[in-house]
Amino acid sequence: MRDSNVNFSFLHRTCTLVVLLCFLHISVTVFYYVRSIDFKQTFLQHQQIQQDQRKLTAYVHGSEGETKPTTNFPLSRHHNATEKSLENLEKCPDPSPILVGPLRIEFSSPVSLENVRKENPELRMGGRYKPKDCIALQKVAIIIPFRNRDEHLKFWLYYLHPILQRQQLDYGVYVINQGGDETFNRAKLLNVGYAEALKEYDYECFVFSDVDLIPMDDRNTYKCFSQPRHLSVSMDKFGFRLPYNQYFGGVSSMSKEQFLKINGFPNNYWGWGGEDDDIYNRLSSKGMSISRPSAVIGKCRMIRHERDKQNEPNPQRFDRIAHTRDTMHKDGINSLQYKVVNVERDQLFTKITVDVGKSPN
Ligand code: BGC
Repeated sequence: MRDSNVNFSFLHRTCTLVVLLCFLHISVTVFYYVRSIDFKQTFLQHQQIQQDQRKLTAYVHGSEGETKPTTNFPLSRHHNATEKSLENLEKCPDPSPILVGPLRIEFSSPVSLENVRKENPELRMGGRYKPKDCIALQKVAIIIPFRNRDEHLKFWLYYLHPILQRQQLDYGVYVINQGGDETFNRAKLLNVGYAEALKEYDYECFVFSDVDLIPMDDRNTYKCFSQPRHLSVSMDKFGFRLPYNQYFGGVSSMSKEQFLKINGFPNNYWGWGGEDDDIYNRLSSKGMSISRPSAVIGKCRMIRHERDKQNEPNPQRFDRIAHTRDTMHKDGINSLQYKVVNVERDQLFTKITVDVGKSPN
């Protein structure tokens, strides 16, 4: 009888232990099962992010690890996200998170504008763009002084539109075409671009770019800074360095306020040279300094070309540069006169043909 009691108690304890072990086993199994579901979700999310990133960097790698856009692709992951309503939009982050860095820039194969239009479907008429899912940090008018450089303009549009969209700018491209065949006047065309762009939109920043200059790194943001910005600081033409410290040619940017402080640009530099030095003199006479990207980020390529007809070096430029401080208050945006001859609106640009008159000499 005692023996059978002992056996029963032993059996009872063993059963309890087995039940407890089973319970523990089930708990551990359930715990790991739940965790594995979590992992699967995380894994899928991770895969999605990687796919998005692959799309973002759907670029062909060049020989030096540089990159070149090949096809049109979603410029921002945010673009694919459900569009937020306007009130909920936040400011775009600075710097833009979708920049890719160094770019391979080459001019060997010709560009078709039809392809550029197809590859930039988010552009609005007139070469306008703004990010869909965040508020651009600045409204930027890009002004290109122009005459008879259609091939260069195609390269410019091909390379710059994707860059400017990745920079998440609210921008418009204004090609200011000097009509007729009088001597070219770059600075006056830039003044016209400033005035015409402002008639269209409340731009707060103006980027002045030669048509033949292409940045080699999209971190060189085409926007304005607390001081006037020189963007083309490291040009292949000059061995990727500044030709001289005061050099302000090629591509530069200025806020509306900075531009007005110097009374805009001179209108009386006819022919090649000197107008950019005059602009530099204006800025420094108003106590402003030049902001610049680093020589690496500021690298850019110039499309090689012959000197344009009717754009011979201006022999008066040295004398004019010497007198900027005396002339700048009477000659500038406050004395600008021109006639608009034609306005052409394309998906990639607004081209304004103007009569800027001719040199009095
Ligand atoms: C001219 C500038 C020009 C620079 C670089 C200077 O002598 O005055 O207008 O941008 O050379 O070519």
